Amino acid sequence: VVTATGVRRVFGGTTVLDGVDLRIEKGEVVALLGESGSGKSTLLRILAGLDEEATGEFTTFGSKAVVFQEHRLLPWKRVAENVALGVRGGDAPDRTATALEEVGLAERGRAWPSELSGGQSQRVAFARALVREPDLLLLDEPFGALDALTRLKMQALFGRLRARHGFAALLVTHDVEEALLLSDRLLVLDRGRIAEEIEVDLGHPRAVDVPGFNELRRRLLALLH
Ligand code: ATP
Ligand code: MG
Repeated sequence: VVTATGVRRVFGGTTVLDGVDLRIEKGEVVALLGESGSGKSTLLRILAGLDEEATGEFTTFGSKAVVFQEHRLLPWKRVAENVALGVRGGDAPDRTATALEEVGLAERGRAWPSELSGGQSQRVAFARALVREPDLLLLDEPFGALDALTRLKMQALFGRLRARHGFAALLVTHDVEEALLLSDRLLVLDRGRIAEEIEVDLGHPRAVDVPGFNELRRRLLALLH
C-alpha cells in the first residue's frame, strides 16, 4: 500500500530526509522509530499528501487516514459529526454509529469534544479514521499524549481494530515497547535515511514476556542510544 524511493525533504538549507526507501505491504503494520528531530513526522506528512515540497518517488495505494498525537477534533461539532466528516452517502449515519461503537463510545455521539477526556478524544480520532475504511492508517504518535494506563488500553484496542479491519499502518512512536507490541516490522530513521530494518517475528497475541521480546528491546534501545 506504500512504496517510496529516494524521498528527500530539505527545510531551508537543512536536509531532513536524504533518500528514504520504504515499502509497506497490504495489512502490514510498520513502526517508525528515531530520535526526536530525525524526520519521522516529516515522512508521515509526505505520505499523507500534506507536504508539497518533498521530492523523490512515493505512492500510496487505496484510501488512507491519518491520526495525530493530538486528536484535532473540531470543537464546534458534536462527536458523531466529527466522525461523520470522514464519510459520504446514505449509510453515513450507520457507519458513524458503528465506528463509535467499535471504539467504545456508542453513547457519546451527541457530546461535544470539550466534554471528553484525552483518551476518549483520541478514540474519536480513531473512529473518524476507521469510518473511511482505510487501506492505510498513518499514525503519528497516536498514544503519545495519553497516560500510561490509557495508552495500554488504546494499544489493546488498536490490536482488536487491526484484527477486524486488516488495515496497514505506519506507526510513528517513541515507545520501543509499543513498537514491539504492535508492529510486524520496525524501521529506524537516522540522518535522513532508514538506518535499520528489523522484522518483529514474535507471533500474536503479543505481550512483553513473549520469548524474544527482551532481546529485541535491548537491540532497539542500543540503536536509539
Ligand atoms: P519528534 O520525535 O520530536 O516528533 P520527528 O522525528 O517527528 O521528531 P520532524 O518533526 O519530522 O521530527 O522534524 C525533523 C526536522 O525537520 C527537525 O529538525 C525540524 O526542526 C525540521 N522541520 C520540520 N518541519 C519543519 C518546517 N515546517 N519548517 C522548518 N523545519 C522543519
Ligand atoms: Mg514527530
